[in-house]
Amino acid sequence: MSQRNTHDTQSASPFDSLVGQPLVTAFLKAAVAEQRVSQAYLFVGPVGSGKTEAAKALAKALLCVQEGCGSCDDCRRVARQTHPDFHLIEPLGVDGYLAEQMRELIHDATLAPIRAKKKIYVITRADLLRGVPANAFLKTLEEPGSSVAFILMSRTRDSVMETLLSRCQIVAFRRIPQKEAVDLLCSLTNSSEKEARIALAVTGDSPHRAYGYLRSSTRRNTRMMVIEKIERLSDSDDLEVLTAAKELLTAVKALLDEARIQQEQQLIDGRDYLSKTAMNALERRLKRELSSRERELIYEELAVVQSWLRDCLLLRAGQPDELINTDCSYLISQTASRVFESNLVRALKAVDRAKEQIHYNVSVQLAIEVMLFSIREELT
Ligand SMILES: [Zn+2]
Repeated sequence: MSQRNTHDTQSASPFDSLVGQPLVTAFLKAAVAEQRVSQAYLFVGPVGSGKTEAAKALAKALLCVQEGCGSCDDCRRVARQTHPDFHLIEPLGVDGYLAEQMRELIHDATLAPIRAKKKIYVITRADLLRGVPANAFLKTLEEPGSSVAFILMSRTRDSVMETLLSRCQIVAFRRIPQKEAVDLLCSLTNSSEKEARIALAVTGDSPHRAYGYLRSSTRRNTRMMVIEKIERLSDSDDLEVLTAAKELLTAVKALLDEARIQQEQQLIDGRDYLSKTAMNALERRLKRELSSRERELIYEELAVVQSWLRDCLLLRAGQPDELINTDCSYLISQTASRVFESNLVRALKAVDRAKEQIHYNVSVQLAIEVMLFSIREELT
């Protein structure tokens, strides 16, 4: 999240983009300014609190010759995760990090940096670093070598092995309160409070993702399209329901194309520094990212459906002040006036089932079709 255009002033700090975390920002800024950046941090905080943003900001501050100007090639590569001295390491195993993955990291950490004076490794799920891979890594974490810094990340402190924890300086990120997240989004994107609340509702209350949503007219239009489809379900025949399901998926595919274009740039960047093996690994990572992005966008559509049905329920319960989708209140009141609460509750359950099925890798198209048929039954 960028609080200001990084090109507009010389004194811009990479930490300015860290919204809603004043203590963390002050702490990391001071560490950089006083040249006492620790070689091992553990960033702890809930989803959406900005840990990855902070890790990237710190990496920019350490890898860019201007301490994170935001506009040089080093800064841009950190942002795109294609800087050869900045590594974001996701667990590759089903249950966590693989021994082989950590062996590779340990070896890589002994090599000199490629472009900058330092190398930075981010372990994105320190809670999933356990057993043999964790033990192999302990010595490196304790004595990383002067040019290496590690940033471990976890949602909670207790889920991280004590032996890892004790070797890191802990930086606690707070959960950003809803009211504050709304205010922040309004000031960052010039959105209204209503729009900011909608954005948080459809992105699982993640301020960072809500920011992305507000900046994307395609995603905002997709929301309107989803609401229209749901609203029309009660008058749709079977073929129209199937077409609606198809259109929901087509919208996701169109949004994915934007991500694909960004990935192409990452591959171009990668070719400058990476070996064939590393390029293959990058391609695999991008593929994984694309499918998790696809899932995220589908969940976003489902969240729109959920939020709309919930609004219908709230209206029936006589709580109009609590509505999220206030820009569609007319449609909501129409549905609320003719559909019973029990039906709305069952329609909501159909959305939950679809989510669960997608989570368990049922065909997305099938899950959405079944969901739409169930909702139609309840709303008719
Ligand atoms: Zn820079």
